Amino acid sequence: MRNKIVAGNWKMNNDANQTEVFLNNLIKQSFNNNVKVMVSPSFTNLQKSVIILLDSEIEAIAQNMNESEKGAYTGEISPSMLKSVGVNRVILGHSERKAHYNENDQILNKKIKNALKNKIGIIFCFGEEINNRNSKKEFKVVESQLSNTLLNIHESDWNNIILAYEPVWAIGTGENATAKQAQEMHSFVRNWIKINYDKKISEMVPIIYGGSVKPNNALEIFSQPDVDGGLIGGASLKIDDFVEIINSF
Ligand code: PEP
Repeated sequence: MRNKIVAGNWKMNNDANQTEVFLNNLIKQSFNNNVKVMVSPSFTNLQKSVIILLDSEIEAIAQNMNESEKGAYTGEISPSMLKSVGVNRVILGHSERKAHYNENDQILNKKIKNALKNKIGIIFCFGEEINNRNSKKEFKVVESQLSNTLLNIHESDWNNIILAYEPVWAIGTGENATAKQAQEMHSFVRNWIKINYDKKISEMVPIIYGGSVKPNNALEIFSQPDVDGGLIGGASLKIDDFVEIINSF
């Protein structure tokens, strides 16, 4: 049985004090069994977050990482920097990084390989734009994103991969994919893994959904057979909403 996962994508929100207050509150909450909870504070607050969360089951993860191991890349963060402060997972491929920082499939393929080589787990995001869905090309687009980024991954590294289906039109818009749309795409992705890797891997990989998940729609989306949880943006910044979403399983 696959783990349930709820991860908060905090983006460029929460300063040092807000991070401390939020996490000290979060560790006092009780969660349903078998849900892995993650939060993604900014780089400046990651080390402190790891310390606050030390005795909890909640994991602090990063929002980005460079595709190189080290060197002359001003302003960038390497895998060993993350590991040195106790961070063992990173979100890669978020559509905001594609839209604002020109990340493309080729760069993402390098980032994925760099993370996995350095034993950093990933939440890898992908998903179609609204014009793709309107022209019924959502499966084709997602297949191309997966083929460009996730081929030639060592089989043993799949243990460190969480996939996040994030239709771009649903991110931050208040318009979520329906449970049916999410299930259809998750099942398609699982089948892609089965064809390109094997059945065992396809059944083991968690695939979470992201895009306007709120307390009032989490239960329906999360109860789909191929949806293993959510990547939560806006609602992860409000502790009551985040906890309610976590406890939706
Ligand atoms: C996200 O940014 O990954 C996201 C899913 O945002 P929101 O929940 O606000 O749509």
